[in-house]
Amino acid sequence: MKNSYIISFKEALKKENLKFTNQRYSIFKFLVNNDGHYDCDSIINYLNKSKIKVSKATAYRTLDLLVKYDFCRKMVLDDGIARYENKLDTEHHDHMICVDTGKIIEFVSPEIEKIQDEIAQQKGYKIIKHVHQLFVKKIS
Ligand SMILES: [Zn+2]
Repeated sequence: MKNSYIISFKEALKKENLKFTNQRYSIFKFLVNNDGHYDCDSIINYLNKSKIKVSKATAYRTLDLLVKYDFCRKMVLDDGIARYENKLDTEHHDHMICVDTGKIIEFVSPEIEKIQDEIAQQKGYKIIKHVHQLFVKKIS
């Protein structure tokens, strides 16, 4: 964990009038140190196993803050459950979700990025953000 990340995290908490606590820091640390897409409950369970008790309210509040200050990306899938992933030092990517197993596969397509830029431009817009979620089934 880079020291500058911790400083930024503390600054974000301060702006939101929230205290720097071991619980909040543990959530932040978990996401920064682990690749993947985690829902709130699995983060809480993981921390519980490490003897860190975090309430749902604290977890959601912290996750909202991490998203607001760009430390994390939030994605909501068809099941309505939000998943969070680290955004620090990561490249933009999109997601493919297997409808059978729930597995999340990351992908990047320069061609898609280019085509959508062109489409927006033709309509007189520029893209400031996009979300692609492809729901897939394994070819049997
Ligand atoms: Zn991802």
